[in-house]
Amino acid sequence: MNIYAKGRILFPGGGEVLEEGFYEIRFESIGGLGAHLAGQMLAEAGVLGAGLNGAHFSSYGSEKKGTPVRSYVRFCSREQEVRTTSPVTRPHLVAVFHSRLFRTENVLSGLRPGGMVLINSPDSPSAWKERLGIKGAGVGTVDALGIAVEEKTRVNTALLGAVTRALEFLPPAAVKEAISRTFRRKYPHLVEANLRTFERGYEEVKLLPPAPGEEVVLPPPAEVEPLLGYLTAPPGGALLCPGNTVLNDLSASRQGFLPAFDRERCVDCGLCDAVCPDMCFVWETVQGARGKVQRLRGVDYQYCKGCLKCVEVCPTGALESVREVEGYAEAHRVPRFELAVPVALASGAEEGA
Ligand code: SF4
Ligand code: SF4
Repeated sequence: MNIYAKGRILFPGGGEVLEEGFYEIRFESIGGLGAHLAGQMLAEAGVLGAGLNGAHFSSYGSEKKGTPVRSYVRFCSREQEVRTTSPVTRPHLVAVFHSRLFRTENVLSGLRPGGMVLINSPDSPSAWKERLGIKGAGVGTVDALGIAVEEKTRVNTALLGAVTRALEFLPPAAVKEAISRTFRRKYPHLVEANLRTFERGYEEVKLLPPAPGEEVVLPPPAEVEPLLGYLTAPPGGALLCPGNTVLNDLSASRQGFLPAFDRERCVDCGLCDAVCPDMCFVWETVQGARGKVQRLRGVDYQYCKGCLKCVEVCPTGALESVREVEGYAEAHRVPRFELAVPVALASGAEEGA
């Protein structure tokens, strides 16, 4: 799958690694999608079922559901020891569990030339390749959410199927055994559904390898040094990003569904606003028959994390849970804030006028 000039070591089955001896994988996800468990099962399959040595660990942000999570897997030959626990910054394969992460995280940072990015999306790999503007690496897509909804499971085992297909050197039977072992312990009633989800991910993934001789256009590895250290930290815990609440974007917290608003069916009862944890509903004051009244304009999807509590309480069906498709939120968003023009900019503009 990967073509490197020197130091290639072949795993049983044909996987290739660099001179350090590692084949490295990074899962880019958000809390609640099961990336950690998927990484654990993948590493277990490689070590117990494919005769490899390997390591797995994850890093979490604030450990909240909906916040970014990265899970890392390293494989090497049985003879080699894994003596590093550093995050994977130059992955051979990146699996993106939620396509919204492209908006907020540098998920492709450090992807190796000839590597592969797998995306949880119903769109085609060629559409994603064009959207991302990358060259020199393969792109794969699988509608993991669609599969998970149909099988009543989570996206992680569907993506595990897609990853196993892309890796080539891991026997699917070894990964299925790891899935069975994991679920049998705690959720035996979910074993069969997760095996089906895995098989569908394996079969339904669409892979587009890089074209031979294609030039390489890939993001470099992310800066590992923190921007602010003890020499550069501002005094007094200053907030360096003014208006960060306004700029906050919770879109990546949605797990495939959002509330669609139908103005025609809305009676402005306000129940949705009462239950929404993120104040996503935008109102306007209009003239009614007996004076001024509040009228619901719509939803600011920038702050919507897709909990769908509003859909549950809406008495008229004006809010409906729909599968999120690319571009829907942007096209239907009603902004809650008008961004203020910074004072310096405004006065500069006046002076220049
Ligand atoms: S789904 Fe509804 S209640 Fe939940 S955050 Fe979005 S708008 Fe608010
Ligand atoms: S709960 Fe439904 S009907 Fe009531 S204001 Fe919200 S969208 Fe409109």
